[in-house]
Amino acid sequence: MSKDAATPADWLEYAPKAQSFENRIVLVTGSTAGIGEAVARALGTLGATVILHGRSKRKLEALHEELAADGIESVCAQLDLSRAQGDHYQELVDSIEERFGRLDGLLHNASILGDRSPIEHHDIGVWQRVMHVNLTAPFILTRCLLPLLKASAMPAIVFTTSTVGHVPKAYWGAYSVSKFGVEGLARMLAIELEQTAIRVNLVNPGATRTSMRRQAYPAEDAKKLRTAESIVGPYLYLLGIEGRALHGERLDCQP
Ligand code: NAP
Repeated sequence: MSKDAATPADWLEYAPKAQSFENRIVLVTGSTAGIGEAVARALGTLGATVILHGRSKRKLEALHEELAADGIESVCAQLDLSRAQGDHYQELVDSIEERFGRLDGLLHNASILGDRSPIEHHDIGVWQRVMHVNLTAPFILTRCLLPLLKASAMPAIVFTTSTVGHVPKAYWGAYSVSKFGVEGLARMLAIELEQTAIRVNLVNPGATRTSMRRQAYPAEDAKKLRTAESIVGPYLYLLGIEGRALHGERLDCQP
């Protein structure tokens, strides 16, 4: 699929062949809920070994058990991105290196919304937390995991953005600014890694029925929104073998 020819509907309908992720080790941040959980399940169903990441050990273990019951291999990586320090990131890297010796895919999906507020009144602590979880943590994780990605034959990094990560919209506060930062980080990294095998791209999932969306739009009718399970196509395309032609691109799934 060429990026120029494809429409959002094409990305959404993309369905890889069965077992096309066999032997691929993929880390999905924020896989205990919403879009991350849906992508992790889809990857596992297609044969990937999924490294489930989240801040809640209980949620991670429950998901791991559920996937195991469906015959899906996964491992758990508990790391609270709002608190993690250097040692914690290093432990994660060491555990992946010891177990697998490489990483084939990294999906930066975990995020928090923070407050929707005018800049004039934005809570400073919330601003710092949102910038840290949504932008600084993906930078640190990427930096720490690059050696393991370089050990893969076909590595892919996918960052998650939002429409407010490239279209300024009043009152979206730190969330919007963090996503502008994520888009900058992804595009800069893509240029820096141009001569390597690593592919770096972005997905903007668009309005999706999750708890973050509910927090942003509590009064809307969630039944009218697409489910997380129905939007995994673009993620699978970019994390898999077929998306290798794309680098430094953003797939927008907003119809
Ligand atoms: P969600 O349902 O709120 O899920 C977010 C995930 O991130 C959860 O697994 C959550 O863990 C995890 N997380 C949050 N803070 C964390 C922390 N400090 N440390 C580790 N993990 C943490 O959100 P979503 O709607 O699926 O969003 C997924 C991505 O899509 C985000 O990057 C979001 O910005 C983007 N996006 C979503 C929409 C939409 O309409 N839903 C639109 C545009 C972009 P817990 O399970 O513990 O909460």
